[in-house]
Amino acid sequence: MHQVKARINLAALKHNLDVVKELAPQSRVVSVIKANAYGHGITAVAKALNNSDAFAVARLDEALSLREQGVTKALFLLEGIYEQDDYTLCSKYNFIPAIHCLQQFQWLQDYFNKNKLSRLSYWLKLDTGMHRLGLSAEQLHQILTILESHSELVRPEGFMSHFACADEMVSPVNKQQLELFTRLCKVSFKVQRSMANSAAIIAFADSHFDWVRPGIMLYGVSPFAVEAELSAIQHPVLQPVMTLESELIAIKTLNKGDCIGYGATWCCPEDMTIGVVGIGYGDGYPRHARSGTPVSIQGVSVPLVGRVSMDMITIDLQALYQQSITPMIGDKVTLWGKGLPVERVAQQSDTIAYELLCQITQRVTIEYE
Ligand SMILES: *Cc1c(COP(=O)(O)O)cnc(C)c1O
Repeated sequence: MHQVKARINLAALKHNLDVVKELAPQSRVVSVIKANAYGHGITAVAKALNNSDAFAVARLDEALSLREQGVTKALFLLEGIYEQDDYTLCSKYNFIPAIHCLQQFQWLQDYFNKNKLSRLSYWLKLDTGMHRLGLSAEQLHQILTILESHSELVRPEGFMSHFACADEMVSPVNKQQLELFTRLCKVSFKVQRSMANSAAIIAFADSHFDWVRPGIMLYGVSPFAVEAELSAIQHPVLQPVMTLESELIAIKTLNKGDCIGYGATWCCPEDMTIGVVGIGYGDGYPRHARSGTPVSIQGVSVPLVGRVSMDMITIDLQALYQQSITPMIGDKVTLWGKGLPVERVAQQSDTIAYELLCQITQRVTIEYE
C-alpha cells in the first residue's frame, strides 16, 4: 500500500537534547514541543525527551492533552491563559502559565483571592523589543508595585523574554534586548531568568541564564536564517529527526517541448524521463517549492520540475540514468531528512523549515524508530 511516511528518529532527538545541554551546561532545559512538537508528534517526543527539566507549549489544550497521555513533568504555557477559570486548570495540572499582560495578572489576583491556599507558579513574560506578547517596563513596574503592597500574593517564579532577531547573529536588536532584560530582572525578590531560544543557545552564551528554551534545534534543524551563519560559528552537529518519504508512482518519457503539470509552467528542454512521486501539498509538501528543489532517490539528488499538485510532484530522473541507475516504480523517494536538509527545501520554497515541519498533514503516517 502506498503511504507517505514521516520517520522520526528518536535517538537523534535525544542526541540534539544532549547538544543543548553541552552548550548550556549551567542552565535547565525546557524543551519546546508546541504545535505537535513541530509536527513530530507531541506525546512521543515528550516521552523521548524525558531528560528535559520541563516542557513548554503555546496553548492550554496542548498541555491538557499531554497530561491525558501521562506526561507528568512541569509544563510551561508560553501564551499563558485565556480566561480566569483557566488558572484552576493550571493549579490542578501543574501548568506554569506566563503572564504577558495586565489582564492576565488581574485574573491571577482574582484567582488568588478566591483560592487563598492555591499553589500556583507563574512567570512574567516581558516585552524587551519583540513587541508581540509581553509586559512593557511600565506594566512590569505596576505589577511589582501591586506585589509589594500585597504580601499574600504569590511572587512570580521567573521572568522570561523572547528575541526578535536571534536568527540573525549580527542584528543590534539582540544586544539591546539582552541589556533591557537584564535590567528589568533586577527586582527585590529572587527570580529565575529565561531568554534563549535555539538560535540564542548556539550564538549567545550570555543569554542562557537559568533556563534555556530550545525548539527547532531539538528537531535537528538550523535556527539560522542565513546558512553561512550556521557554519561560521563552531556549531555542534545536530542530527535531523524527521525523514519525509514517499514513492515513485509513475515513470514516463516525454519529448522535447512537452510541458508538465498545472499551468504548463515547465517544459522539457530535450527528450527526457520524468518521475511522478506520490506526495503533494495535501501531505504538507510546500506548493511553492520551485523547479530545481532537490529530492533524493537511491541516494541521488534530482530536481523537482513543474508545479507541486495536491497529491503528486514530478521530478527529472536524468541524473539517475547518468549514474547508470534505473529507477523503478515503487522506489523510495526522500523529500527531506538525513542528507537532504529541510532547510534547503524551505529556502527553495520561500519559507522556513519551521513551517514545513509543522505543516505535515494528517494523511502522513508518523513512524518512530
Ligand atoms: C517557540 C518558542 C521557543 C523556541 O524557539 P526555537 O526558535 O524553535 O528554538 C522559545 N521561546 C518561546 C517563547 C517560543 O514561543
